[in-house]
Amino acid sequence: MHACTESAELGLYTRPVYNLSREDSTNPLILVCEHASRYIPEALNNLGLDEAAAREHIAWDIGALQLAEQLSEQLGATLLSANYSRLLIDLNRPRHAPDSIPLQSEIYPIPGNRELDEATREYRRQTLFKPFHARLQMLIDERIAKGLPVRVVGIHSFTPVYYGQPRPLEVGVLFGQAQDYAQRLLDGLQAQPLKVAGNQPYKIDPLGDMTVPVHGDARGLEAVLIEVRNDLLRSPEAVSRWAGYLAPLL
Ligand SMILES: [Zn+2]
Repeated sequence: MHACTESAELGLYTRPVYNLSREDSTNPLILVCEHASRYIPEALNNLGLDEAAAREHIAWDIGALQLAEQLSEQLGATLLSANYSRLLIDLNRPRHAPDSIPLQSEIYPIPGNRELDEATREYRRQTLFKPFHARLQMLIDERIAKGLPVRVVGIHSFTPVYYGQPRPLEVGVLFGQAQDYAQRLLDGLQAQPLKVAGNQPYKIDPLGDMTVPVHGDARGLEAVLIEVRNDLLRSPEAVSRWAGYLAPLL
């Protein structure tokens, strides 16, 4: 006998899963912001986090959406951004990665993810994860079908203090196969008065990352992930400065 259970979260995800801007752009660049939002439906009570923790970097990439939007506007490039918190399901993890639906994020336990049954885990995969990646795949397919070039760039931000350790790095370019493209970006950023590094503060791991390995490397497309330290993205002026550094290089 097969018991078919319904998720307790059925019908909770009423907002669109993603925002898509400048869909018909012919700029080769497709910007992706998987951690753009900290939105968690009210009925889920911030997954048991207090209000301060639910506003922290664990729930979203602070400032990343503003930076991605500004780049999209300046370059006329397509931008796909998420409308739900990464704590529900992380769009930049393979769907069966252990931290796809995190039980713990950095120093914060996520109580609301502890007791999830498989029906709810699958519901989040089907409702939040699948449509986002299907749309990204379709965007790429459409460009390729038209013979247009494609590059995929994830825009992220990272916390200045991680497990109690301050991080002096200001911007990282994370890559797998796209070494030449990443090197061009690194060279351009290093020409600025910035603390820059390749594959820091994280590395692309095909078992732990989604957008770069799946939509880029596996398809032979240039793909990188940009990480900007989030304390440098806290005002419109600061975001503009970073858009100014990045836009000519992407
Ligand atoms: Zn991120």
